Amino acid sequence: MSSYDPQNIFAKILRGEIPCIKLHEDEHTLAFMDIMPQTEGHALVIPKEPAVTLFELSDAAAAACMATVRKIGNAQKKGLGADGVVLMQLNGPGAGQTVPHFHIHVIPGSLADLRKPHATHMADTAHLKTLAEKIIAAL
Ligand code: AMP
Repeated sequence: MSSYDPQNIFAKILRGEIPCIKLHEDEHTLAFMDIMPQTEGHALVIPKEPAVTLFELSDAAAAACMATVRKIGNAQKKGLGADGVVLMQLNGPGAGQTVPHFHIHVIPGSLADLRKPHATHMADTAHLKTLAEKIIAAL
């Protein structure tokens, strides 16, 4: 079992210590734009519960995350015209996980887009906000 570092970047986002481009928030989850997206509209869904990987996450938090993933994916389809949405979820450094707070990538596009490296290129913030507005309008 991985121990949870409360100073990880997503924990700081949850506490409001650093900003994010928010798409949706409810009692158990937060959805926001990935700042180094693999496709236009790449979003992340995280639980408020502190867990590093799926294997530490409670069943209730996992279910809450999936409900939010469904909301975001539907809004990406409607708001961005995505004809496909890929989910990606990495568990542990061995899988390539870079932020040690459980998250699900919600990526409008195809499996081919996932073959490009992730977390490499910072996107323009203004452009991310424009995409976020379209997703939010479709929620
Ligand atoms: P993973 O490699 O699965 O742990 O993915 C972590 C993701 O978090 C990557 O896609 C990064 O681009 C993204 N990321 C890192 N820092 C931030 C941040 N401050 N705001 C939004 N997304 C971030």
